[in-house]
Amino acid sequence: MAQALGYDDTPVLPDSEYRVHDGTRPQPRVVTPGQDGAPPSDAAVLFDGTDLSAWEACDGGAAPWKVEDGVMEVVPRSGSIRTREALGDIQLHLEWAAPSVVEKDGQGRGNSGVFLMGRYEIQVLDGYDNPTYADGITAAVYGQYPPLVNACRQPGAWQTYDLVWLGPRFDGETVTRPACVTLFHNGVLVHHHRTLIGPTAHRTIKPYSPHPETGPLQLQDHGDPVRFRNIWYRALADG
Ligand code: MG
Repeated sequence: MAQALGYDDTPVLPDSEYRVHDGTRPQPRVVTPGQDGAPPSDAAVLFDGTDLSAWEACDGGAAPWKVEDGVMEVVPRSGSIRTREALGDIQLHLEWAAPSVVEKDGQGRGNSGVFLMGRYEIQVLDGYDNPTYADGITAAVYGQYPPLVNACRQPGAWQTYDLVWLGPRFDGETVTRPACVTLFHNGVLVHHHRTLIGPTAHRTIKPYSPHPETGPLQLQDHGDPVRFRNIWYRALADG
């Protein structure tokens, strides 16, 4: 019966058991997209504005940041926070805002960070009219790759990161697949399938060091009261 959807006399696709327009090919799983910024139906929500129950301090204690009016905010010098859950390859959405009152410049202005697997930082910074080294500006793979463009909104405005993260794979000490990220900042492509050199670092280059295929997502306390909201991810199938 399903055959009626397509054809059974067409060529078989390369590296596939299916023909072109194959009527027996399984349908894509149905996902209901979110309305007005809400997560899609199959997303795992890490922060919905209510509480920090999905998060902890990096020593395993309670997450020390504050939640107010549906937003979480870095409590400067309280420490970075991380998800209780270890995440693998993901699609990630998060929204953040740097302080609206500009007090400092360079790396001192609205600095935070999104650390994938706790090791690989996508820079969060108020990079609007705020020169700093290119591989440390907003949306940079910190210390490795500047974003393709600077898509910053003005200080205080909400901004979005949408990314696809593929973590590294190891065979013993050997890297069999380096980590890779694709990132949209405010809907603008800023990294297209960017391959990471290794873990991100300040003023140095770190080689890959074997680690599990999952790890916590970490948000950085860099001493600035950066805010976050609407954080969710979708786990990607292996490969
Ligand atoms: Mg940072």
